[in-house]
Amino acid sequence: MTLSEMRDILTSRNLQLTKSLGQNFLHDGNQLRRIVEAADLHPGQRVLEIGPGLGPLTELLLEKGVQVVAVEKDARLVEVLEERFYGRDKLILLHADALEELEDVSKDWSAWKLVSNLPYSVASPILVELALSPGCPMVMVVTLQLEVAQRIMSKAGDDAYGILSLLLQLRYQAASSFKIPASCFFPAPDVDSACVVLVRRDQVLLRPGPPTKIFAQVVKQGFSQRRKMMLKLLRERWPDLPWGEFFAELAINPMARAEEVSLEKFVELTKKVSS
Ligand code: SAM
Repeated sequence: MTLSEMRDILTSRNLQLTKSLGQNFLHDGNQLRRIVEAADLHPGQRVLEIGPGLGPLTELLLEKGVQVVAVEKDARLVEVLEERFYGRDKLILLHADALEELEDVSKDWSAWKLVSNLPYSVASPILVELALSPGCPMVMVVTLQLEVAQRIMSKAGDDAYGILSLLLQLRYQAASSFKIPASCFFPAPDVDSACVVLVRRDQVLLRPGPPTKIFAQVVKQGFSQRRKMMLKLLRERWPDLPWGEFFAELAINPMARAEEVSLEKFVELTKKVSS
């Protein structure tokens, strides 16, 4: 789908794009093909696409012979997509808010791949919701603001390391990433983007359910005031737990701020709290 085709659809229907829905459409064919290649798709696989927009990515996904479920919030775009993909039996289009759709914990995405150019305003909550769900997708190939992509991939000690890094890395490893310049989108956003390939870990670091919930609570509390010592913050919230002992047993510096504490240490700390 070229830029002029996108413009034609929008003009002929008098469609004004909605900024709050993150409607920046990817029109660069090379970048779209790179995203699809990064997902390593094979006929018969199942793909979840959040925010198909005018369908440039959807089209390439369907060419791979995969089954696609595409969730779009904007009714005007759903109408365009229904016409554009009429009769394509490998596509299920859902008119819904993806965040509400994903909150249904009974859904099992474990045999699915997520391939999406995500709406920027809700990209992080969507990824966290999926990553922490019991049936999280096997692979997530997502295009995001560059700064968010950096936060996802950061390690302890990096400036961008924080809650998002830890909540996603509990279940996923970043396998690769590439930058996508703002000029590849219409309209061009103010910032560059990146496509990140997240592969689900073979080894489960913490079981879904209570241990994962405790992990998320400890991480959020630890980062609630970035400049403050993590030990103090945890004591404030859970004064009855022997945090000093936990830190000593795990060789975590009692003066450390959360941004210095690795994923592995957060996991070990969670195990102590859970036991
Ligand atoms: N995939 C298309 C592309 O690459 O050109 C469009 C991507 S655009 C960045 C994000 C899309 O997500 C828009 O079509 C927008 O309407 C849709 N969207 C925004 N919020 C959404 C939500 N909560 N649930 C589902 N779709 C949403």
